[in-house]
Amino acid sequence: MQPAEGLKLNKNELSFELGPIRPPSEARSLLLRVTRNCPWNQCLFCRTYKKRKFSLRSVDEIKQDIQTARDIADEILAISLKAGSGGRVDDRVISHIFGESGYSENFRSIAMWMYYGTGACFLQDADNLVMKSDYLVDVLKFLRERFPQITRVTTYSRSRTIVRKKVESLTEIRKSGLNRVHIGLETGYDPLLKYMKKGVTAAQHIEAGQKVKMAGMEVSEYVMPGLGGQEMWAEHAVETAKVLNQINPDFIRLRSLRVLPIVALYEKMAEGSFTRQSDDMVVEEIKLFINTLDGISSIITSDHISNLLEEITGRLPDDKGKMLNVISKYQALPEQERIIYRVGRRGGAYRSTDDLTFDPSTYGKIRNLIKDISLKQGPDGVERFITEMGDSYI
Ligand code: SF4
Repeated sequence: MQPAEGLKLNKNELSFELGPIRPPSEARSLLLRVTRNCPWNQCLFCRTYKKRKFSLRSVDEIKQDIQTARDIADEILAISLKAGSGGRVDDRVISHIFGESGYSENFRSIAMWMYYGTGACFLQDADNLVMKSDYLVDVLKFLRERFPQITRVTTYSRSRTIVRKKVESLTEIRKSGLNRVHIGLETGYDPLLKYMKKGVTAAQHIEAGQKVKMAGMEVSEYVMPGLGGQEMWAEHAVETAKVLNQINPDFIRLRSLRVLPIVALYEKMAEGSFTRQSDDMVVEEIKLFINTLDGISSIITSDHISNLLEEITGRLPDDKGKMLNVISKYQALPEQERIIYRVGRRGGAYRSTDDLTFDPSTYGKIRNLIKDISLKQGPDGVERFITEMGDSYI
């Protein structure tokens, strides 16, 4: 299949700016960059925007990107019509766009977005509510006008930025098209927030979450199991749950700590002021955290590869027992089985402790691998191997 004459000539020129990350839940969303990098950029555990300078983008610049995305979408529709797919982005259209060289990354990602038909859009980067409210309203209105098929627009923002906005401004932003704010809560324990240089207090986290809800938007709070280390894990679990109990966010998303050598926390670990928890300790911490959540109806998800137990997911309060059961099941495994599961999970082979019994061949291979590493390097070698595998996915 060939696209209409002329379309193919221009498609390489159609591109717009993209940021480095999006939440896992936005994997099938249209991505648009509204600001660049993080205006704070000091959290000890974070590497995402290290050495990248924050900058605002002008409204005109953002609108130009939205228009380019629209032009690409129109070209894709033209390809579909020419292919006889009637304007639908189906397998035929996708295999053409991915089968031919010359289509830009933007072009392909918009094609996939249209193929999935999620109607979702995620605004990058780390803290878009830092924009002047009027500017953001202008951008959102333009986006909704150019893409009437969009049904959900979400963004990241920091609690400290949100508390500076009036509920009226946030309401205006919601009316202009923003539906959900993802907030990196990480912890609700003040000494830990301070230690990690998060630049926010537990009280500000509560105020920010409540304000977003009052404005009629959904709140998605990211919690970081493991962040307290062996020094503060229990306070981290309990105080974080207490903060969430006062917000009742729509979503609580777990994203376990990984300490890569490039983050400042790695140095703290080397100095000895922070001690990383083992996987089993983090599981115990999550148990305490879930047990302390009370009186809220949030959905908990573990939709990130950093989490050992992906099945800790469900809506409170009904699924609390089910989620705690996932933990009990793991904790009831003999130590050797837990190690096999951890290697399988960190290596991408397992998603559930049930997988240990479903696939004897994988199980046997992992067991032999552990035996081999253990013989050569001892138990510490196995732990190192698991840590390195886990880090390699981040
Ligand atoms: S506010 Fe978020 S993006 Fe910025 S440094 Fe902290 S964790 Fe990273």
